Amino acid sequence: MKTCISCERPENVVPLVSITFAKNATWICTQCLPTLIHDPNKLVGKFQNMDTNNPPEASN
Ligand SMILES: [Zn+2]
Repeated sequence: MKTCISCERPENVVPLVSITFAKNATWICTQCLPTLIHDPNKLVGKFQNMDTNNPPEASN
């Protein structure tokens, strides 16, 4: 089941849009998309928690 990376709602509840970040492919729902556009830092942590061989640079 595909789920939104932000709110974790499944595709049968909300429309999901495929996105990629730091070479990871994932899904985000249309309601969370504005958050990603306007405040991507809120979602960077979620991406960093995904298994990846190419983690993004931390910018603390
Ligand atoms: Zn969402």
